[in-house]
Amino acid sequence: MEDRIYCYHCMTYHPAGQMRRVDTPRGERWRCIRSIAGAANSTAERDAFGGRQTELNRLRARQLQESANPRLRSFSY
Ligand SMILES: [Zn+2]
Repeated sequence: MEDRIYCYHCMTYHPAGQMRRVDTPRGERWRCIRSIAGAANSTAERDAFGGRQTELNRLRARQLQESANPRLRSFSY
């Protein structure tokens, strides 16, 4: 059985090989590499996600508008 270390970020246990010790204001904690990488990328990912959401929302709004006004769609052809 492999060692498992408590990850303060996920509040669960991960295999020791995935854990890194980090310094926090409250002292040393163990945190998994996945959560560390996720934190480093979170801003870029959030921006990309936000951009996709905006695009989706615009598409959805247009579809709603078209379905609410069927005549608009026939004029566009
Ligand atoms: Zn974790």
